[in-house]
Amino acid sequence: MPTLEADIAVIRGRVKEGFSIPFPIDTYYDVVILPGFSDTHAHPQVIDAGLRHGLYWSSSYEWLLLRELNVDEAAIRADIGLSSALAELALKRALLEGTTLIAFTGRFEANLKAFIKLPVRPRLVVLPTVMKRKGWVSPSELEALFDRYRKFMRDDLLRVGVFVHSLAYGGPDFISESMRLAVRMRAPLGMHLSEGVSEKRDFLSYACCLDNLSLIAVHCLDDDYRDVGARCSSCPGSNAVLYRRILDDFNRITSFGSDWPHLIGTTGSQIPFILKLYKGVEGEVLFKATVGGYEDYGIPYAGDIIAYDGSLKKVLGGGGLPRLVSVAGNIAVEEGRLVFSGETLDDIIKTTRETIAYAVDVYGTGEMPHIPARQELEEYMMEALSRAGGVKVEVGGAARKRV
Ligand SMILES: [Zn+2]
Repeated sequence: MPTLEADIAVIRGRVKEGFSIPFPIDTYYDVVILPGFSDTHAHPQVIDAGLRHGLYWSSSYEWLLLRELNVDEAAIRADIGLSSALAELALKRALLEGTTLIAFTGRFEANLKAFIKLPVRPRLVVLPTVMKRKGWVSPSELEALFDRYRKFMRDDLLRVGVFVHSLAYGGPDFISESMRLAVRMRAPLGMHLSEGVSEKRDFLSYACCLDNLSLIAVHCLDDDYRDVGARCSSCPGSNAVLYRRILDDFNRITSFGSDWPHLIGTTGSQIPFILKLYKGVEGEVLFKATVGGYEDYGIPYAGDIIAYDGSLKKVLGGGGLPRLVSVAGNIAVEEGRLVFSGETLDDIIKTTRETIAYAVDVYGTGEMPHIPARQELEEYMMEALSRAGGVKVEVGGAARKRV
């Protein structure tokens, strides 16, 4: 029987020497990570965050109010072809960066269309956004869409849930209706919470059926939601870019999200920086960045594996992309290329930029939005760390502040 062998394996965040499993082909790598990375919060239709050098905001509400975009976001969402092309690019980017599970908010039909189109896919959690704003759906409209597309939702790699944008843009009625919908569907519910302002008290006054709800709180910068049974998807990259902040209590994080795969890459590409934020707990970071996301959304990871050439230090330091990516036993990436199209990560990033240029031409000012370079992203994350004055991590039961 053919086998996949490796010198070093990172299994559920633990490092093990010598690794061998039955595999469709005989192959050998220096390092394997099992399962692959999970990105538990991503907006595949976001191509512009209104970023300018040196500019940052105090909260998500301030950002949404004051940011200046080069593109009409509502027009992009309304364009199903463009929206699904962007979702497809984000799925391909995820695979090439070793992200085997990704959770998409945004427009349901566009994200579903992209998923169906790909011959080999990452695992996808689709959490369509419910929002009280023009161009977005209400909980009842979303339920009607689920009924309409039910036959396309039956896929072992797909999990469908609900995403409530926020307290202010959801409101008490949308929040409680969305929660009831998620409970009826036995589906996860995600929500931006405490992104620069404390919101827990208001959230609890709006919430219903928390005992039966699988809640993924996204960001949780200002409140701890563990006591209400929520899991927390932390997006250190976008938090640093937008607010020069990170979640300074590592223990509150259950998984990591990227927020904007097109602008700053998926979790798989941000691992070197995340390891620099939460030092001394490498195994726990790798656990949360892989298994953590699968557990957030109740998803199995059998057959999900990524493999690299080079030492573990080089791999975790960002010194190379995965050579092989397998999802549920199906090979998606071989020799750093998508098996079904031959595209590399550089190809996808190039096509994404062309697609963004098209979008700003048709639906915007014609001017490209600012996309932070990797070095710029790292600088913002390190600045956020220094502003936090270190992070609280727990090792062997003892909490301590590390700088
Ligand atoms: Zn978000």
